[in-house]
Amino acid sequence: MAFEGLSERLQKAFSGLRRKGKVSEDDVRTAMREIRLALLEADVNFGVVKDFIKTVREQALGAEVLDSLTPAQQIIKIVNDELTKTMGEAAVPLNKSPHIPTIIMMVGLQGAGKTTTVGKLSNYLKENEKARPLLIAADIYRPAAVDQLKTIGEQLSVPVFDMGVDTDPVEIVRQGLAQAALQHNDYVIIDTAGRLQIDEKLMTELANIKELAHPDEILLVVDSMTGQAATEVAQGFNDRLDITGVVLTKLDGDTRGGAALSIRQVTGKPIKFIGQGEKMDALDVFYPDRMANRILG
Ligand code: GDP
Repeated sequence: MAFEGLSERLQKAFSGLRRKGKVSEDDVRTAMREIRLALLEADVNFGVVKDFIKTVREQALGAEVLDSLTPAQQIIKIVNDELTKTMGEAAVPLNKSPHIPTIIMMVGLQGAGKTTTVGKLSNYLKENEKARPLLIAADIYRPAAVDQLKTIGEQLSVPVFDMGVDTDPVEIVRQGLAQAALQHNDYVIIDTAGRLQIDEKLMTELANIKELAHPDEILLVVDSMTGQAATEVAQGFNDRLDITGVVLTKLDGDTRGGAALSIRQVTGKPIKFIGQGEKMDALDVFYPDRMANRILG
């Protein structure tokens, strides 16, 4: 289950506080040490943990908390609020273009779930906005990525623009956008190439696609199971492409929580959606407060 270890460790820290009628400064310090370790073990970025603990400790040591009738509860609420803030406070909606089509470029490393998420997002837009998206298959390197997208398109009755695997991706995107203009699609979602790790050639190609397409949204798809590595990937893509948001996948797995809790702080970019399964309807808007509640168990 996602966040299992983190939830257990946090609950343990809280139960130490709850056992005391009156909470002392030493009790708070002990609890903070436990919370700090729990976050580090969940693979949360070191700097994020440091800021988090500092803020929570300052608030928890305040006289109004320690002298209150329910200090433990108040400290739990402080932790909950700070977890929410760390992940971004409120849900951030998709950027929309004032004129059609809204162009969404999906980027990410191979295996993160990019192609699947392109399908899920088109399904989400169809269901929630009665949208008529066009998908562009611009991942010409991964064997079968184009076919995978075409299969997903058929399954969802969403058109897919492709030119096979022998045309330059920038040219594919150019022609795909022309097709979308002709057909008055309100959304275009571009599936781009991934690699096993960030490399210069890939980044140049993505930058060229960005320059041509002027996307309203560049969504980075990252695998939450990879923890802090996901945060580093996000930083790398953001430095080069100035992404507009993140989709965190595989939250149905037993992710420890590091990616969810670090990405917003490290990149300054919001997590907009989460993937919670392989099926096409397993995509949800990301609500930081709900995620904080889930982490607290
Ligand atoms: P890409 O290389 O980034 O395009 O990755 P794919 O879209 O091909 O996805 C890689 C694998 O991850 C596939 O088996 C997907 O079914 C799976 N996958 C994608 N998103 C999720 C998710 O949210 N949960 C789970 N459990 N699997 C996912």
